[in-house]
Order: sequence, then structure tokens, then C-alpha cells
Amino acid sequence: MPKLVKSPLTIILVLLGFTLASFWALIAWKGVQERALAFAKAGSETQGLTHSLAQHASKSFNAVSLALFGTGQYIRHSDKSARASAEINDLLAQYAKNIPQARELGVLGESGDWMFSSFETVPAVNNGDREYFLYHQSHPEDATPRISEPLISRVTGRPTLLMTQRLPNPDGSFGGVVFAAIDLAYFRSFYQGFEAEQDRTVTLMTTSGKVLVHRRDDQVGKDIARSSFMDHLKDSGAGLYSIVSPFDGRTKQIAYEAASDFPIVVTVAVPEDAILDGWRRDRNFDVLLGGTVSTILIGLGIVLAVQIRKRSAMARMLRERERGYRLLAENVEDVVTRFDRTGHRLYISPSVEKLFGWSPSELLEQPAFSNIHPAHRDLVKGLIEELGPERLTGNVEYLTRCSDGKYVWVETQMNYVDDPEEPGPEIVGVIRDISKRKAAEEQLISANEQLKALSETDPLTGIANRRRFDRMLELEFKRCQRSNSRISVLFIDIDKFKSFNDTCGHSAGDGCIRQVAETIASCLKRPADLVARYGGEEFAVLLPETSSGNAEIVAEKIRASVHDLSIAHQGSPLGRITISLGIAGGKCDARTSPASLLAAADGALYVAKEHGRNRVCAAAETPSVTLVRPVG
Ligand code: GH3
Ligand code: MG
Ligand code: MG
Repeated sequence: MPKLVKSPLTIILVLLGFTLASFWALIAWKGVQERALAFAKAGSETQGLTHSLAQHASKSFNAVSLALFGTGQYIRHSDKSARASAEINDLLAQYAKNIPQARELGVLGESGDWMFSSFETVPAVNNGDREYFLYHQSHPEDATPRISEPLISRVTGRPTLLMTQRLPNPDGSFGGVVFAAIDLAYFRSFYQGFEAEQDRTVTLMTTSGKVLVHRRDDQVGKDIARSSFMDHLKDSGAGLYSIVSPFDGRTKQIAYEAASDFPIVVTVAVPEDAILDGWRRDRNFDVLLGGTVSTILIGLGIVLAVQIRKRSAMARMLRERERGYRLLAENVEDVVTRFDRTGHRLYISPSVEKLFGWSPSELLEQPAFSNIHPAHRDLVKGLIEELGPERLTGNVEYLTRCSDGKYVWVETQMNYVDDPEEPGPEIVGVIRDISKRKAAEEQLISANEQLKALSETDPLTGIANRRRFDRMLELEFKRCQRSNSRISVLFIDIDKFKSFNDTCGHSAGDGCIRQVAETIASCLKRPADLVARYGGEEFAVLLPETSSGNAEIVAEKIRASVHDLSIAHQGSPLGRITISLGIAGGKCDARTSPASLLAAADGALYVAKEHGRNRVCAAAETPSVTLVRPVG
């Protein structure tokens, strides 16, 4: 399907266009149908009316012709006496009275003078010059009644139609004319009743095209013998057709019907405007309705189109945004994940595969927390439980299992998200591989520890140095203080070492120092015991939780062990390397301190030197450190 057709906007526009086109086509079709129907209905009505009017005209003239016939018969059989004349006048008056369309009746003699009349007095008028008179005079063969052209009565001065009939003498010669005057107003008033409706025009005319009765006086007597109407009349005695009126130029529907007994024809003309009046009102209403519906539909279409455009713009924007997020999630080193409060994963970015070997779909199927190292699960669960409106973010470092079974250190930054449009709160996590950082941290710690160890180690002997000794003395002193136990310190100095150096050389001196250090260390059994090289050829020993008495045993053991090394030393009275030891020890109460202990031990050492070396001297238990007694 082409892209254009897929667009909802195009579909809406096409549907709207189709609906509007169909709607207007329906209105147009309805209009055409109703127009034809209006014409057909009007034609049928007009024809019906025309038929009735033709019958009416026929009957009107028929009645008059009967009167003419009766009058003619009466005159023919009268004896021309005065009485007979009076009877004829009476007869004519009776006819005029009973035949409403006959305004007057009369008989003209062979010279055209009035002989009889329906008037009370026979008018002294000669009508011998009238067309109808001359016609009857010259047409002996035509004995039928004849309708004259409209004329103005010389007696009444009114527009009049005359129905005339030849009055023959007994020998057949011309004896005059019997006539009946029909007032044009008779037909006019009758026709007016029908003309009010639909602006009709009823015309009475002769079949030869002479207008007898017309609502416009100036049309009366007009000859339309050359109009197309005459062609229609020739074709059929009755009919219906449309013409441009010869009377007023308007397009009209014309129905006509010739009377059966007389050469007259009745036409009823209805202007098309009038016929279509009702149709036009309906059409205008339909157009108005169609316009309103179209406007509403177009309005709705515009609203819909605007909405669709807005929606598609929004959808495009969302697609772009989604693409942006996806690109971001897929290309960052970190893993982006979403999970609910139970730890159930809702989303995990594809970068997880690169980092941990799992595909996102594998991870989404695994139970929550299953890859977290068992020792760290509670840590992670604890942070998830803590997160909420009060605490929105948190960090946790833990070991997570890769697809190859190995654990790597990761750090997850968790963000609590409570979107009102989502069913429940979620946590968005950004997982970062921190194994390198962890390794670096561990290396640093180990380096620091090594550095620290080195800084507290004597390089010559490998045992602790003075710094470590002082630190450990402080620590152990406090510990013994807390446990209310005793602590002892030994101060050791190699006897006559200067001369050893001088005799054997500095290097041998160093070796001797190392041997002495090892020997002292070998005499210490408790883990907390500590030997340190305190100075050049001086050592200090820390004996926590050891009374001065027990310290003396250790000291003596050390002295003996060094003595038993039997390192030759010419400068010494015993000919071998010996050491002197000073002991200080006691309770760690407020009256004593690490410094006072050291000072007491140093004092005891001094005493040992004084008393001949290769011996142990102990200071009295604190606080009287000044009292020193030789040991052994
Ligand atoms: P005394 O019995 O009174 O202690 O006599 P002494 O000779 O040992 O006296 P003193 O303690 O004054 O001499 C210490 C000597 O130790 C001085 C120095 O020659 C020697 N010495 C100190 N440190 C070192 C060292 O690191 N290596 C060596 N080879 N000799 C050292
Ligand atoms: Mg010394
Ligand atoms: Mg010495």
C-alpha cells in the first residue's frame, strides 16, 4: 500500500470528500427528481383544470346555442304578429334571465336592424356592418352557431362575445341573425378564481388563433395564428407543453384542450417559476441543510485533522525520543534496568550482554536477585526496601554472576520513580562494572599495608622498628589498662659492641645484630609479644599481660640464648657476645605510662651494665621504678 494511502489524515480527507460528494449528489438527485415531479404534478393538475374549463366553455356555449336554436325555431314558426313579436321578446328575456352567461339575446333583421331583444325595449341600432352579420349574410350554407371575435357592444358598451346563427327565411334566403351576447366579464370572473393560484393564465380562444378571453385586456382579440401553439393544436386537440409565452415572454407550462362542440380552445398557462415555487423552497432548504451539514462535517474534519496532525507529531516526537533513549541505552557502557519493588525486572538494556554475557531476554526470565552473590543479596534487597518517596536514590556495590559463572563487582545507582500513570512505583537502576576499580582499590590497600609494614620494619633485621614498638606499646598499654592486667617491657643492649665492630668490622657487626634479633624473636612465644630494634645494637621487647616476674623468665631465657650463640668477641671479658637486659613491668594504672615503663626498663638496663653486663636487672614494679634489683 502506498504510504500516502496509509496516512490516517489522507483517509479522513478521502472519506470526508466522498461523504460530501455523495451527500451533495443525493441532494442534487433529489432536486432533479422533485423538479420533474413538480412539473409532472403541475402538468397533471393543469391538464385536469384545462379539461374542466374546456367542458365549462363548451357547456356555456352549448346552452347559449340551444337558446339561439330555440329562438330561431320560434321565429320560424311565428306568424310575425305583434303578439308573436312580444312572445319572442319574452322568450329572449327568459333566456337571458336563465342563462347567466347570456347577457342579452337579440335578433337582427335582414338589414341589420334589431328586431327582437331580451331588453325591455328593442334598441334602435343597426348592426348590418358587423363582421358576423356580413358573414351570415354571405354564408347561407353555414347554419351552425358561430362565435364572433370580441367586440364592444354598441348597446351596452361592454366587451362582448357574440354567438350568432343565421336566421333563414322559409325559402332559405337570408332573414337575419339570431345572436346572444356573452359578456367577457362572465368568463373573466369565472377564470379569475383559477388564476389566483400559481399565477395561472386562463385563455379562451378560437381554434383559428384569435384570443377571446384573456386576463390582460390588451391581449383580447390578439391573433396568435402564427405561434407554435397552433402547430400543437393541429397535432392534438389537447396537450401539455412548455413554451415562452407569446403574451408575456415568460417560460410557461401550457395545457390546452379544444371544446368538443365549438371551435374554441381553452389554455391554462402556468409559469415555471410558480410551478417550481414549492420545489425551490424545498431545494433551498435542502441546500441550506446540506450547507449546514457540510460545514459541520468540514469543521469536524478540520478538528479531526488537527488532532491527527497533533497526534502524529506527538507520535513522531515519542518515536524520536524512544530512539534516542534506545540508542543511549544500547551504546552506553553501563546497563540500564527497570524493576519493581520485588526486584522483578521489567527492562534491561542490551549492553548487559557485553558486560555480563547474559542476553536481556535471559535475564528477564530469571528470578529476581538470582545472580547476586548470596552474601550481597540482603544488601541489595535492603536498599530497594529503603527507597521510596522519602529516599529517592541510593548506591550499592555487590558481586553479580556472569553467564560464565564468574562473579564481578558492580555498582548500581538506584532511582525510585513513581509515575502516576504507571500501575506501581518502579526503580530505575544504572549498573556499572566496577571490577577494575575494586582491583585497584585492593591493590592500593595492599600497597598501603605493605608501606605501613615497611615503615614499621627494621631493614637490617626484618623485625619491628622503634616506631612500631612505640605504637604497639601504646595500644597494648591501653588494652591492659582496660583488662586491668600487667604489662612488661625489656630493654636489651649488646655488651661491648663497639669493640666488636672495631675488631670484626661493621659488616660482621651487622650480622651479629641480625643473629641477636633472631635469637630474641625465637624466645618469644605469645602472638602479642613483640621484639623491635630500638636503636643501633639495642632492642626492646613488649610482653603484654605479663608480670615483671614472668618477664624475668623470658629475659633470662633471651640472655642465655644469646650467650649460647657463642659469637666470638675478643673485647668482651667472656670472649663472646653477650647482652644486658633491663626489665620494667607492672599494672597499667594511672600512676604509670608507656614512657615511664620505658624509662624504668632503660634504668634497669643501666644497672645491669653497671653490675658487669651479661645479666638481667628488673626495676621494681611501678611506681617505684627507680629501685632496681639484679635478677638471678
Ligand atoms: P657497652 O657494653 O657499655 O654497651 O659498650 P659498648 O661498646 O656497646 O658501648 P656503646 O653502646 O656506646 O657502643 C655501641 C656501638 O655499637 C657503637 C657502634 O660502633 C656499634 N653500633 C651501633 N649501631 C651499629 C650498627 O648498626 N652496626 C654495627 N656494625 N655496629 C653498630
Ligand atoms: Mg648501646
Ligand atoms: Mg652496647
